[in-house]
Amino acid sequence: MLQEVPEPKLTHPHDVKLKMIYSGICGTDVHIYNSDEWARANIKTPHINGHEGLGQIVEVGQKVKRFQIGDYVSFETHIYCEKCRICELKNYHVCRNMEVLGVTRDGVWSEFVVMPKRVLFKIDKGVPLRYAAILEPFGNAYHTQSYSNLKGKNVLVSGDGPIGLFCALIARTRHPKRLFITGITAARSKIAKACDLHYIDPSKVNLKKRLEVLTKGEGIDVILESSGNEHALKQGIDLINECGEINVISLYKKEQLDLRLNAMIFKNLRLQLVTGRKMWTTWNEAFALIKSGKISYKFLDKVITHTFPFESFERGFETILTGNAGKVLLTFSSTPEQN
Ligand SMILES: [Zn+2]
Ligand SMILES: [Zn+2]
Repeated sequence: MLQEVPEPKLTHPHDVKLKMIYSGICGTDVHIYNSDEWARANIKTPHINGHEGLGQIVEVGQKVKRFQIGDYVSFETHIYCEKCRICELKNYHVCRNMEVLGVTRDGVWSEFVVMPKRVLFKIDKGVPLRYAAILEPFGNAYHTQSYSNLKGKNVLVSGDGPIGLFCALIARTRHPKRLFITGITAARSKIAKACDLHYIDPSKVNLKKRLEVLTKGEGIDVILESSGNEHALKQGIDLINECGEINVISLYKKEQLDLRLNAMIFKNLRLQLVTGRKMWTTWNEAFALIKSGKISYKFLDKVITHTFPFESFERGFETILTGNAGKVLLTFSSTPEQN
């Protein structure tokens, strides 16, 4: 529910205060909105939700040099400690003492937010703000494929949620031989087709046979798995080529999956499990890709299907729950009209 809270105060010299411009609704937020088993176990209430987006700096702490009032910034969901062994090895995105914005600490669905400078990512002038606002989930997608060379490969993106759609748009810029995306939702098949992607609904055709025909018997070399569907992962292991690579960004309902490990070994497969975004290589490269225009804004606009004022966040959730949405953004009172 929407509630008045006091404006947060800037007290720490390394912090900045932002006014929020955009935020995205993510799958995690849907778990919290539905108050499902995971959310009840992990979210302490009262709690401010939301972890994706973009803000403009309105105040900086005394020790903040790299950022100035007026800068537009996106931010990392994973607030790392800088002190643990994992951070020492620069794997900040899986820090052992990590705080997660909108999960273990208050999120960004409020007009003003205070945040440590170390998780901010500056947005260069000239990039439309709504595209800079999707960098967090877009970065998930970018990170997922950063482990594989896609050039000349037959690539399958499994799953048609916003991350899957971003995965496919990014993969296309990396010169695969052939690229397919799978999903089972009519609305998202339309989004994929509007982005000139080759969409296959595995509930309607035999996926393995279809891919064999479409690749002229070559098969699939790389799978980017974003569906969170156990069956899709297992089918991927079954259909992927020898020495293939499966990069997984999604989470699964079950903690333990029964995977055909020996079959994977005999195929010499690589299973790369992915979470978050590398700080800051993923951010820099993902932002450069958006800035370069290599992925047309026209296509990003197809994936960003809805924008609601944040007071109407419930409409955003309802739209997502119908299964007809791509990425849903929320605006704030400071969001400019044209951007
Ligand atoms: Zn998210
Ligand atoms: Zn750490």
